[in-house]
Amino acid sequence: MPSALETLVKILKLEREKGCQNNAVVGGFAAYSVTWKLQAQAQARRPKHLMLAEELTDLLKDYEHIETQLERMEQIEYMLGRIMGRQPMPEKYQQQLADIKEGDLKKQEIADVPVLDEKPEPIETYGYDSFKPVAQPQNDLPEIPRLERPPRRKRPNWSLDESRERLEALHESTTAVNGVGNSKAADLAKMGLDTVNDMLHYLPRRYDDYTQLKYISQLEPDEVTTVIATVSKTEVRVGANRRRDFYMEVEDGSGTLNTLFFGQHFLIRQVRVGQQVVLSGKVTIWGNRLQMSSPEMERLDSENLHTIGIVPVYRLTEGVKARSFRRLMKKMIDQYADAIPDAVPETVLDRAELADIGWTMRNLHFPEGMDHLEHARKRYLFDQLITLQLGILGNRRDWQAVPADPMPVQDGWMDTFLASVFPYTLTGAQQRSLHSIQEDMAKDVPMNRLLQGDVGSGKTAVAIATLGIAVHNRKQAALMAPTSILAEQHYRNVTAAMEKIEGNFRPVVALLTGALTQSERNSVYRGLDDGSIDIVVGTHAIIQEGVRFNDLGVAIIDEQHRFGVEQRAMLRGKGSNPHLLVMTATPIPRTLALTLYADLDLSIIDEKPPGRQAIETRVMDPVARERVYNFIETHLDLGRQAFVVHPLVDASETVEARSAVEAFDELSQVFHRYRVCLLHGRMSPTEKDDIMNAFANHEYDIMVTTTVAEVGVDIPNANIILIEGANRFGLAQLHQLRGRVGRGEHKSFCLLMPDAYTPESEQRLKAMEDSDDGFVLAEMDWQLRGAGDLMGTRQSGGHILQLAEELSPELVALARQEARTIYEEDPYLEFDDHALLADKVQALMERDGGDMS
Ligand code: ADP
Ligand code: MG
Repeated sequence: MPSALETLVKILKLEREKGCQNNAVVGGFAAYSVTWKLQAQAQARRPKHLMLAEELTDLLKDYEHIETQLERMEQIEYMLGRIMGRQPMPEKYQQQLADIKEGDLKKQEIADVPVLDEKPEPIETYGYDSFKPVAQPQNDLPEIPRLERPPRRKRPNWSLDESRERLEALHESTTAVNGVGNSKAADLAKMGLDTVNDMLHYLPRRYDDYTQLKYISQLEPDEVTTVIATVSKTEVRVGANRRRDFYMEVEDGSGTLNTLFFGQHFLIRQVRVGQQVVLSGKVTIWGNRLQMSSPEMERLDSENLHTIGIVPVYRLTEGVKARSFRRLMKKMIDQYADAIPDAVPETVLDRAELADIGWTMRNLHFPEGMDHLEHARKRYLFDQLITLQLGILGNRRDWQAVPADPMPVQDGWMDTFLASVFPYTLTGAQQRSLHSIQEDMAKDVPMNRLLQGDVGSGKTAVAIATLGIAVHNRKQAALMAPTSILAEQHYRNVTAAMEKIEGNFRPVVALLTGALTQSERNSVYRGLDDGSIDIVVGTHAIIQEGVRFNDLGVAIIDEQHRFGVEQRAMLRGKGSNPHLLVMTATPIPRTLALTLYADLDLSIIDEKPPGRQAIETRVMDPVARERVYNFIETHLDLGRQAFVVHPLVDASETVEARSAVEAFDELSQVFHRYRVCLLHGRMSPTEKDDIMNAFANHEYDIMVTTTVAEVGVDIPNANIILIEGANRFGLAQLHQLRGRVGRGEHKSFCLLMPDAYTPESEQRLKAMEDSDDGFVLAEMDWQLRGAGDLMGTRQSGGHILQLAEELSPELVALARQEARTIYEEDPYLEFDDHALLADKVQALMERDGGDMS
C-alpha cells in the first residue's frame, strides 16, 4: 500500500504536470488535506513525521490561495523537497516538535488511532429523506452540442450616447449588483473588486468540467473517470497483513460500484450511508465487479452539478466562500451580460467569426460547454489585441508626425568607420540591419526600429555604428541598458571603439549610472547640456529629470523588454524627436513581434559571427547528478567558471529568497572546495552588481542563481551552465540562459536537468539539444506552450494580457489584420461605428501610459 507521503508525491507531481490548477485531486488540495492528514498521522512513526504531516497539511490548505502558477510550482517543489528531506524543517514546526513526546506516539501506534488536533471538516450529509439517486437514466444527461461557430444575437439598437452611459454604469460600485450589500462589497473589495466592471473581468482561474461525468453502468475497466453516486454501504475490512481497509459501495441509479480505501479504516467515522459523493479514480475489475481502489473522494457540492455542467473556480481570499462568490458572479452576469454595449463593429465580428460580447462574458464565467469557452476566450483576447494594436498604430502615427533631423552619411563613410573601429568584418545580417538604420536616419521621419538578434549575434557592433552615424553628424547619442553592469560593459566597448575613429574628431563618451557620486553626476549633466559630451552610455539614470541634452540625435535602448513604451517616450522627450533604436535578445516569433511592436520596424540578425563554437547541450537525468557535479569540478579545476540556475522565476519574495538560499547552501556543501556565490532577484541592484562584478573578476567559481542571470553580461571564462528543473522553463528562456556561456574561447556546455518528464517537456528539451536558433525555438515554444512565457518576458509595467496563455498565432494574425483594416479606413477612429473602440484605445493608453510593450 502506498504510504500517505508516497501518494502525496504522486499527487504533487500530477498537479505540476497538469499546470498547477489545483485539480490533481477532485475538490482541490485544501479539501483533500483533511483525509490526507488523517492518513499521514496514522502512519507516523516518529514525532517528526507528525510534524511533517502537520506542515504539509498547512501547505496543502494554503495552496489555493497562491496566486501565480510559478509560485504554486515553487510550493510544490518545496513540499517535494520537504518529503524527500532536501529541505530542513522550518523553525515554527521545530518548536512544536519539541513539545511532542515519544510516549504520545507509542500509544498511538498500539491503538492505531490517528492523533487529531483538529476535527476533520464534516462531510455534508443529505439524509435519507432527501436521498434520491443523482443520476437519472442515461439519456437524461444534458447533451452539449459541439459549437462550431458562436451564435450571435441581434445587436440592440442603442444610440452612441446610450451605449456610453451603459458602459459608464459598469464602473459603478459592486453594490449595484443585486444581492451585494455593503458587507459583501467590502469582501469583494478585499479581492480588488470595486466595480461591476472589475467583477466582469475577474475571470475564473479554472473550470471543473462535470459534463464529462459517467454513470456507473457506462464505466469501463482501466478508465480514469469521475462518478457521482450515493453511498449505500460502508464497512471496515481486514486485509492482507491485518491491514484495516475501508470498504464502501456506492450507487447512482444505473449500477453499483465497489470502492476500497487501503488502510483508511478511519473513514468509517466520516462517511455515512446516504451521502452523495464525487469519486474519481481508475476503474478496475475485481472478481467480476467494477471497483475503484483508493479513489479521490469528495462530498458533492450539489449546487454545482444541478445548475451548471462546467463550474468556474475563482481565486478567492480569506473569508470568501467559493460557493457564495460563484453565486454572486452568476447574479452579476445575469444582470449585466446583455447590457454591455459591444465595442467591436458587427462587420468585424462577422469576418472574424467571433461571438458577441454579452455571450462572451457569460461563457467566460459560466461556459455552457468547452467549445463555448474556447469561443469566448478567443473573443476576449481578440478585444485586447485589437485595442492594443490600434493604440500602437495611433502612437506611431502621432510620433512620426513630428519631423526628426536627418543624419545622412556619405558613401563609403560607413565602410571606413567599420574598418577602423572593429577588428572583424560585420556579418551579412549585421550589415543588412545597419543598412536599414542608415536609411532610416537619413530621413526626416524619426527612426523607430527594433533590432532583434540572438545573444551573441553582435548587436553591440550595430549599436556602435549607429552612435557613430550620429556623432559624425555632430549630434549627441545615448545608449541605455537595463543594469549598471551592462551599461559599464557597453561603456568600455563604446569608448574603445570611438578611440579608434580615424581623423581629428574624437567623440567624448561619458558613463551615467546611479553609482556615480553627486558631483560626478553633475559634471555629466553639464556636459550633456552644453554639448561637450557626445555620447552617453548609462542606465535609467539617463532619463531622470535633471538630464538635458544639447542636441540628442539618436537614442538606443538595449534589452528592450526591460523598458516600456513610457521610458521610450521619456528618452524621446530628451531631444526634439530623436531617432530611436531598440535592441532585444528575446527572439519573439515574427507574427507576435509585428503585433506587439507594431510601432517599430523590424530588423533581425539571424546569423552568428563566424568561428563561434556551438554550445553542447545535453539533457541529463537527475540520477546522473553525481556525474554532472564531477564534470563541473573537472572544468573548475581547469580554471573555468559555472552557472547553476534554479527554477524560480518571478517568485514571491520570501519563497524565492528562501529557496535560492537553500540551493546555495546545498551547493556550497557539494562544492566545498570552490568559491560559490549566490545571485537572486530579491537582492538590491547594487548587491546584484557587486556579485556579478566579483564573479566576472573570477573571485568566485560557481554562481548559483535564479533567472536574473539572463541579462546579457559577458563572462567569457564561464563555460558550463547547469539548469535545474529545466522542464519548467520555456524554450525561449532556456535559450536565453544558455547564451550566458559560449562567450569565450572555451568549449561550452549547457546541461539541462529536468525534475519531471511529460511528453511535452521532453519534446522541448530535445529541441534545445537539436537547435541553437532562438527564433526556431521561440516559434516552437509558442506552438507548444502558448504565448504566456513570451508575454511574460516582455512585461515591463506589470501589465500582461489576460489569458495570454491562450494566445495563438492565428488569433494574433487575425486581430492584426482587422486592426489594420479599421486603421486604413478610419485612422483617427472617427466613425460612429468605431467610437466605442476609440474609447477603449484611449482608456488603454491612459491606463498604461501606452505601456503595452
Ligand atoms: P549581443 O548581440 O548578444 O549583444 P555582442 O554584441 O555582445 O552580442 O557580440 C558578441 C561577441 O561577438 C562580442 O565579443 C563581439 O566582439 C563579437 N562580434 C560581434 N560581431 C562580430 C563579427 N561580425 N565577427 C566576429 N565577432 C563579432
Ligand atoms: Mg548585448
